[in-house]
Amino acid sequence: MWCLDPVNSPELIDRLRPHGRHGDFDVAWVGEGWRALVEACHERLVAVFGEYELLDIRQEDGELSFQAFPRRRVQDQPQWSPEESDELSTITDAFRTLSRTVCEWCGATAELREWRTTELTLCDACDARFPDPPVPVRRRQV
Ligand SMILES: [Zn+2]
Repeated sequence: MWCLDPVNSPELIDRLRPHGRHGDFDVAWVGEGWRALVEACHERLVAVFGEYELLDIRQEDGELSFQAFPRRRVQDQPQWSPEESDELSTITDAFRTLSRTVCEWCGATAELREWRTTELTLCDACDARFPDPPVPVRRRQV
């Protein structure tokens, strides 16, 4: 599947869900090949920012985009320091970099397939298996 949801990833989604803004996170918009990356990124974040807020997990330009804040935003209270923000970005950027070599569909060693209408990071076998971009792969919403 091209998403991680409560059906194909119940254990992972159960762990991510409480970090959603309303405690209702339930779909990561990346292929199943990145499940282990999403899981590892979540674990790293929790180790440093126990109450981190999860905004979104999606594929962006063929890379894993794990979008989060160091903690929940509470109105009229100090949020987080630039250092904390940097530390969080360091973690999520590391997984973005890792995702460039992991097939989004099956988890095998992969590379970015730039010729596709929708850029995807896929292994040779999956690249051959999917002649057309899978739909729907959501594009970044601005
Ligand atoms: Zn593959």
